[in-house]
Parts: sequence; C-alpha cells; structure tokens
Amino acid sequence: MRTIGLIGGMSWESSAEYYRLINQQVRDRLGPLRSARLLMYSVDFGPVEQAQHAGRWDLAAAILVDAARRLAAGGADCLVLCTNTMHKLAGQIQAATSLPFLHIADPTAQAALEAGTLSVGLLGTAFTMEQDFLKGRLEQQGLQVLVPDEQERQAVHRIIYEELCVGIISAQSRQVYQRVIESLQARGAQAVILGCTEIGLLLKPEHSPLPLLDTTELHARAAVAFALTDEAKEPGRDEPLTAP
Ligand code: GLU
Repeated sequence: MRTIGLIGGMSWESSAEYYRLINQQVRDRLGPLRSARLLMYSVDFGPVEQAQHAGRWDLAAAILVDAARRLAAGGADCLVLCTNTMHKLAGQIQAATSLPFLHIADPTAQAALEAGTLSVGLLGTAFTMEQDFLKGRLEQQGLQVLVPDEQERQAVHRIIYEELCVGIISAQSRQVYQRVIESLQARGAQAVILGCTEIGLLLKPEHSPLPLLDTTELHARAAVAFALTDEAKEPGRDEPLTAP
C-alpha cells in the first residue's frame, strides 16, 4: 500500500472527513482491520484565510509549498490537497516536490462524465466559482459549468467561511443552498458539484433536487485508488509481515 500525503486544515472540519472516508474505503476494500497508510500535514487555517481574502496568494503558496515538502520528506507517495480553493496554487505546490499531485477536479469530472452528465452547477467559495482554476479544468474535460448569480455566490461563500469551516450546520443555510441548486436546475444543470470540501457536511443527497458530486468523497476515493493500485484485489488479505 502506498502512503497518501494529505495537505489538510483548510478547514480541519473537512480534513477529518477525508481521514474518515479514506480509512473507511480501505477497510471496505481490504478487510475490517485494514486502514490507510497516510500522513497529514494540517496547517493553521487562520493565516491562510487571511492571505486569501487579502489577495496575498504568495503568502498562502509559501505555507502550502512548505507543507508539501514536509510530506515528501516524511515519506508520502502522493499529495492530496484537501481543499478546492487552494487548487488555485496547484501548479506551485506540484512543482515543489516530485510526488504525483492528485488534482481534485479530475475524479470529479470523471464521475460527472461517467454519470452521463454534461451540464453541472458548481458551488464553492467565490474564488472557486469566479476564477478559472477549477472551472477551467472541468471544462477542459468536456463539462459545461454553471455558477450561481452574484448574490447567490455571496451567500454560498459567506456560509462556507462563517459556518461550515467553524463547524456550524444550520437548517436555514441548507435551505439557502437548496434554493441556489433549484435555480441552477432551472438554468439546465443536471447535477451539482460540491466544489468546497465542507459542503457535504451540510448537504446530503436527500436534501438536493439534483444529484450531488461531492469533491471530498471523490477526491478521497481517488487517493485510495492511488494507494491501492498494486494491492491484490482479495479483500481480507493481510499485508506481509515486514517492517515498513
Ligand atoms: N475547504 C474549502 C474548499 O474546498 C474552503 C476553505 C478554503 O478556502 O480552503 O474550497
């Protein structure tokens, strides 16, 4: 099994989901006592969030490049950046080490295409909805990406930073998201990408009029697929009894 390197903490509410999902999937695939080999470097989100909103992406990049190097030095076999927004800096993070970088957009686009969905709504931070780093990569893979209108984008963004990243899950905010999804549906979206790793904490499939593509879940699945590429496909098989 290869070792997954997670760059987490943005926010830790969603990093905890990655940890849970990755371990659950390894258990499902390999057997009840099996779990993932992984390293997580979890940053202090405060300075990262300040840098984002001040437009100081250089400062945020320095923090994440440092995290990537620490994971490489610690023995990670790949890098998984546990946030959509910071994929704005994917190029710099990827260039910082020689490890494979598992981009969050790729398993997401693949899942949409496998479901026969071409037109998708995108929910995320304003950075993710308004800039091209995620949308562009999804479009390159053949998807048509619709984003909410400006007022809706502001509401979606505010709820992410003021509530979801600090562990507040509110029925009222869920309704706000439901209305945004309804208007994306009216504009032709066939599914909605939860393009922020905390939204799945608020919105489950039963809350949504459209099928959901949860980037946290899809990214975690891609990390497990990478880690288990060379594993025998026999559930329950034990690792050989050797030191790492
Ligand atoms: N976790 C979020 C995302 O997936 C937002 C927090 C951040 O700005 O990194 O975009």
